[in-house]
Amino acid sequence: MKIDIIHPAHYRDDGTVVQAKGWIDRLGAYLPHLGPPLLAALTPDRHEVRLTEEYLEDIDFESDADVVALSGQIMQFDRCKDISAKFRARGKKTVLGGYLPSMLPDRVEGFFDAIVLGEGDEIWPEILNDIEQGKLKKRYQSTRSVDISNLPIPRYDLIKKDRLVVYPVQATRGCPFTCNYCSIAAVHQGAHRKRPVEQILRDIDATGSRNINICDDNLCEDIRFADRLFTAMAGSPVRWGTQTTINVARHPGLLQKARASGCTLMALGVETFSVKNLEDVNKTFHAVDKYAEGFRRIMDAGISPHALIIFGLPDDKPDTFKKTVDYLENLKVPVAQIFILTPYPGTPMGDRIHRTGNVFDQELSHLREPYVVFKPDVLTPDQLKEGWWGALEQFYSLRSIFKRIIMRRTPNNLLVNLATNLYYWSKVKRGIHPVYFGF
Ligand code: SF4
Repeated sequence: MKIDIIHPAHYRDDGTVVQAKGWIDRLGAYLPHLGPPLLAALTPDRHEVRLTEEYLEDIDFESDADVVALSGQIMQFDRCKDISAKFRARGKKTVLGGYLPSMLPDRVEGFFDAIVLGEGDEIWPEILNDIEQGKLKKRYQSTRSVDISNLPIPRYDLIKKDRLVVYPVQATRGCPFTCNYCSIAAVHQGAHRKRPVEQILRDIDATGSRNINICDDNLCEDIRFADRLFTAMAGSPVRWGTQTTINVARHPGLLQKARASGCTLMALGVETFSVKNLEDVNKTFHAVDKYAEGFRRIMDAGISPHALIIFGLPDDKPDTFKKTVDYLENLKVPVAQIFILTPYPGTPMGDRIHRTGNVFDQELSHLREPYVVFKPDVLTPDQLKEGWWGALEQFYSLRSIFKRIIMRRTPNNLLVNLATNLYYWSKVKRGIHPVYFGF
């Protein structure tokens, strides 16, 4: 069979599809999701596979594919539905996998020929067999955690390469923590699996690139595993970034090894500088009074910390936005990704907020910035939206960039950080959230 694996884009308010095909968008790096090239690699050889990243290219709705596999986040739900409808009208079979059906199966079933709950790695060949034999089921559910000790090399060759690509390589899957707003925790339930180090090195090598995104949810929590990996990568010519928690800063020796293995960036979900907020989201493994020292240690090791911040938590007040950005500026944190709390149904916090009756916008596709879909405990929705955008404007102002990036004691990764900040400054000026291609 011919199979199109599509990562859909999302809609703007006016119904147009957000894409990033212009010259200015090509200045930014492209970080593909791992799911599509991994699914392609898990597809038996007798099938022909094609990948489409809709943010970068148009979908071929005249495709001669027999099967269309879609994997989207909640914000792409409307687009997933429409793509599926168009292909089904032409007799194609559509299958939806990923977090969306895993968390909200009853909301999405029926818009696709089949949905996949949980990890699809081992079920995918069975689904294709069922399609070939004309007995496709409406719902497939993985009954156990997938054994990730022997995954194939993702089909990196199918990734579009018309701009700087930072290739996704997986080292671990899941996260040992269960923050109550987190979709990863909702799906993996605290399971944290690690791949054999030699297979991770094999995949890095297979990318043929020096730019790697170790696309884990929490790479460094098992410090013995991280130490083994970084030791094996020592002296590697690759530059890599990842996501982990600021707890990694408790281990200066590990930070040195990470740097020596090519680490330049760690995205850290610090979320808030309020102890009460951390308690509320079940994130007490973080110590707010250790944040400043943690950021300093990471920067002293030559690694750029990217602070991930959420506004809209119960203890956030009108002055929280400026206080937070002032704090990050004073620490000279090079990059911050600033988000609005999204009460995902299927997470404990999301379900709790829905039960309060404070959710006034039920559109699944609005569970992303710039939308505020609920009334927070203290702030009004307008205060949250304006304060969030004001924080982005303050952090990515030229004054702040000069202070945080140029006026540094140790200008590690200066050019990359400066380029990233100026690119984000240009996006904020155009009204675009730095992590999105568009609104
Ligand atoms: S540490 Fe991060 S990935 Fe892990 S459960 Fe918390 S928010 Fe999710």
